[in-house]
Amino acid sequence: MGACHAGTVLRVGLTGGIGSGKSEVSRRLAAYGAVVIDADALAREAVAPGTDGLAEVVDLFGPEVQAADGSLDRAALGARVFGDSTARRRLEQVIHPRVRARAAELESEAPPDAVVVHDIPLLVETGQADDFDRVVVVDAPDAVRVQRLAARGMSTDEAHRRIAAQSSRAERLAVADHVVTNDATLDDLDTAVERLWRDVREGGPSVRRPGRGRR
Ligand code: ATP
Repeated sequence: MGACHAGTVLRVGLTGGIGSGKSEVSRRLAAYGAVVIDADALAREAVAPGTDGLAEVVDLFGPEVQAADGSLDRAALGARVFGDSTARRRLEQVIHPRVRARAAELESEAPPDAVVVHDIPLLVETGQADDFDRVVVVDAPDAVRVQRLAARGMSTDEAHRRIAAQSSRAERLAVADHVVTNDATLDDLDTAVERLWRDVREGGPSVRRPGRGRR
């Protein structure tokens, strides 16, 4: 019966570089009935006002990373950890375990046989590819991504800088079971995600080795 064993959720990791169209893909997968768990949203929740996560971040980096309203001052924190790999690692040690614990909790609440899609921008950078039954990579040429980021108001320089700070397309593609190429229209993306949904659920054509994960 393919990838969906009775009573077992199918765990899908979804990733892609900045501007690749991950959010567009995860929205479409949710419309098909996938349970989508958004790592970025969980990371924000982990340091929301009143959380012990925020208290730990303020302990580590000082009151200047907290805004007057008690929320995290992301710009101040970003400036504090920028170019300081030790500081960044400390920050990640606060946030990542909380994100993973909450993601596991949400997954445990998913119905039996659900397709649970973990939308994780830095899945490759954080070495999580082997944690999933299937890895889906949303891919688009850098030039297309820069254009999309520019349309959102980012300068070309900043877009290139952010792309360079992430894994390369090749590094992402190397761990992909399924690749969604998103270099054309959103109508084309509809078609690609329709096919992806079928392939993922049926255990259909995977671009990578055929027997990984728990399948
Ligand atoms: P980020 O990591 O920056 O959040 P993302 O991978 O989640 O990016 P999206 O937010 O889905 O990417 O897409 C980036 C922008 O490009 C959005 O404004 C989105 O609507 C637009 N976009 C994505 N795919 C297409 C497409 N095929 N045609 C036109 N616009 C697109």
